[in-house]
This record gives sequence, structure tokens and C-alpha cells, in this order.
Amino acid sequence: MDMYDVIVVGAGIEGSSTAYHLAKHGRKTLLLEQFPLPHSRGSSHGQSRITRKAYGEMEHFTVMMKEAYNLWETLEKESGRTIFKKTGMLTMGSADDKFTMGTIRCLQRHAIPHTVLDYNQMKKTYPMVEFPRDFTFVVDKSGGILMADKALMSFHEMFRYYGGTIRDGEEVLEIVPGETVELRTATSRYRAGSVVLTVGAWATKVLPKLQVHLPIRVMRINVLYWKEKVRGRYSPDKFPVFLQENASNGYAVYGLPSEEYPGLVKICLHWGPEVDPDTRDKADDTWVLNTMKKYISKHFPDIEPEPVISETCMYTWSKDENFILDHHPAWRNIVIGAGFSGHGFKLAPVVGKVLAELALNKPPSYDMSPFKVQRFRHNAKL
Ligand SMILES: Cc1cc2nc3c(=O)[nH]c(=O)nc-3n(C[C@H](O)[C@H](O)[C@H](O)COP(=O)(O)OP(=O)(O)OC[C@H]3O[C@@H](n4cnc5c(N)ncnc54)[C@H](O)[C@@H]3O)c2cc1C
Repeated sequence: MDMYDVIVVGAGIEGSSTAYHLAKHGRKTLLLEQFPLPHSRGSSHGQSRITRKAYGEMEHFTVMMKEAYNLWETLEKESGRTIFKKTGMLTMGSADDKFTMGTIRCLQRHAIPHTVLDYNQMKKTYPMVEFPRDFTFVVDKSGGILMADKALMSFHEMFRYYGGTIRDGEEVLEIVPGETVELRTATSRYRAGSVVLTVGAWATKVLPKLQVHLPIRVMRINVLYWKEKVRGRYSPDKFPVFLQENASNGYAVYGLPSEEYPGLVKICLHWGPEVDPDTRDKADDTWVLNTMKKYISKHFPDIEPEPVISETCMYTWSKDENFILDHHPAWRNIVIGAGFSGHGFKLAPVVGKVLAELALNKPPSYDMSPFKVQRFRHNAKL
């Protein structure tokens, strides 16, 4: 049976970053993935994700984002690929919008370059959008686009470069805890000093088998692309990434400029129907499409209000929208990375660093109290 220092289960962005950090520090590491790579059935595929430094509502992430920017830059240098494109990030809301006001306070407190605009100033900079006149607008100048597929590919490539092994198309069927952990797939058995479980939406299936029942739920997200009426009107040199927290019936909407498909702007509802990760295509998304068509008609006069492309992805939403980054409550050498709640991509380099530290039983670089399994002890059966 092959023996490793650490085995990481799940080769999405969080597991791949973890495996990269472990291999870079000379650990004999195996990365196991159930599907042949690359695949589009999890949460890390696609061309783009938003990144930003401001996290008004959860400031511990702002602290982590400072290092995440540096680590993304390191990955760019190592892989020779451009992963980050700066566009600025626009947030907007009324005077009582907690997200917008929290974002401004966070940007001020952390001295992150930004501008606060009133309606007229906003229209001069971004004439292609329409929002209420009494809104406050704020641009986090550090914001922009992460090239998601390129980032994932770079982690895999550099993991192999540092001596790591990837086995894809191999689902972990059984985890046998102990002083060393045994993993069983349909074709092989592996053993490791510790194991990291970064299985995305499948945490809802894998963790209960280890007696961990977390308040997390899986949602299917429609990734919608809309056609510009005038080609280039929303290109990255003119239009930023944006997030409106209270956009429609309390749901958030986010968007990215026309970048990945020529002439198409990506604008999505930050919510969707609850699904089983193995049967997500069955979900009824009519209400999501109707909500988004109305939103586009109202706020984007220069975009056709009918989506041209619809792709899908999954959020694994934790009850408090914080991640779970912790040791298993009973077995310290099993580490859990789960519940990335639709905002985990930008933080992946830091998440991977911290999960690698936990797997090696080293003191973590950050205060881990927001990420503990035990915070759910009143709601979860452990
Ligand atoms: C539409 C959409 C938009 C998003 N936008 C943003 C954004 O703008 N900014 C941001 O920061 N974040 C964003 N996110 C969130 C971010 O993409 C996710 O938090 C992140 O990709 C989660 O990665 P993961 O590694 O946990 O999950 P995954 O990518 O799903 O990886 C888990 C992997 O584990 C594998 N696996 C599962 N079970 C097993 C098993 N038993 N054996 C072997 N392998 C297994 C799966 O096949 C999968 O490949 C977005 C997510 C979506 C869906």
C-alpha cells in the first residue's frame, strides 16, 4: 500500500492549493480527485472569479486577503501565467445598506485605496449602469478578476513540479481513521500520516460518514452571460467587477466585465435552488432567470435582457457564511476544509496554506476561531 505524508481529497481550488503548499514544503503528497481532470462538476471551474480586499461584514478575511494577493502573485511568477486582472470593484447601496457602509469602513480602517462616489460622480465614471440617485457607490481599487481555470491549472502544474502526485478519476469511497489514515478507492488503497478533506459540495455526503454533521447546504448557481448592445461597452478597461448585496428581494447580484466570451457580460444571482451535488441539473431555475432578466432591464440599459449562455456551478453555504477549516473533532490527523459559501476562490492560496499547517500539526498563521467545527455545536450533531 502506498504511504504518503499527507493525502488531499478533492482537487478543486482549495484542495489543489493545499496540496501545492505541502509539496512546496517537501512533503510527500497525493492529491486524489473523483472525476477526470479538468472537470466542470464542482465549484472551481470557469474562466473568472471576483477578488477584492474589502470584507466589511467579516474583517478577518480582509487580513487574510492581504497575503492572498501576494500568494497569487507568487503563483503567477512560478507558472508564467497572468492570473489576476485589476478592474476595481464597485459596491453600491442606500445609506442604510450594511454591506456598502461596512465596506467603506473596512477600506478606511485598512488604508486600502478606494473612492466613494455620489450618483453624478458614478454616472461620469460608469455611464453604462443605472441605480437610484440616493445610493452611495464605493470602488475598492484593489478589486478585479481572477482567471479561475488558469489558477487551478497553475496549482496542479506547480504541485507536480514540486514532486506531488495527482490521481484523478479515483473517488475516495472509504476513510479509515487511526494513527495513520487509510483511504480506499475502487482500485487502490492508500495510507497517510494525515488527510485533508476538501471535497466541496460532497462534504454533505463525505463528512456524515465520519460523524461530522455541519449546517451546510448546496445550491446550484446559474452563471449567466448577457450580450452587450454595443460591443466593448462593458469591457474590463471601462467597467469594474461589482456586487450589490441587497439587489432583489434581499438577494445579492454580482457581475464581471465582458472578458471571457467576446461581447458577453457575466451577471449572476448570488443564490439558487438547493440541490444534491450528484443530481444538480434537475433543479428548477425559472425564478432565478426571471429575477435576473428584471434586474438587467432595470440597471443595465446597454445589455440585452435575455441570457445568451447559462452555465452552472455550486455553492456550499455554511450557516454563518464563514469557512470550516479545522481538525476533525475526534481525529486530529483528519483536517476539514469546507463551506466556502460562494466566496472561497479569492482566499484559496491562504486557505491552502492554513490547511497544510493544520495537516502538519503546525501552529496556524491566522486566528482560527471563526473557522472551528465546534462553533456549530448547538446546531450540529457531532
Ligand atoms: C458560480 C460561482 C461563482 C463564484 N464566484 C466567486 C467569486 O467571484 N469570488 C470568490 O472568491 N469565490 C467565488 N465562488 C466560490 C468559489 O469558486 C468556491 O468557494 C471554490 O471554488 C470552492 O472550491 P472547493 O475546492 O471547496 O470545491 P470544488 O471545486 O467543488 O472541489 C472539490 C473537489 O472534490 C472532489 N471530490 C468530492 N468528493 C470526492 C471523493 N469522495 N473522492 C475524490 N474527490 C472528491 C470533487 O469532484 C471536486 O473536484 C464562486 C462559486 C460559484 C459556484
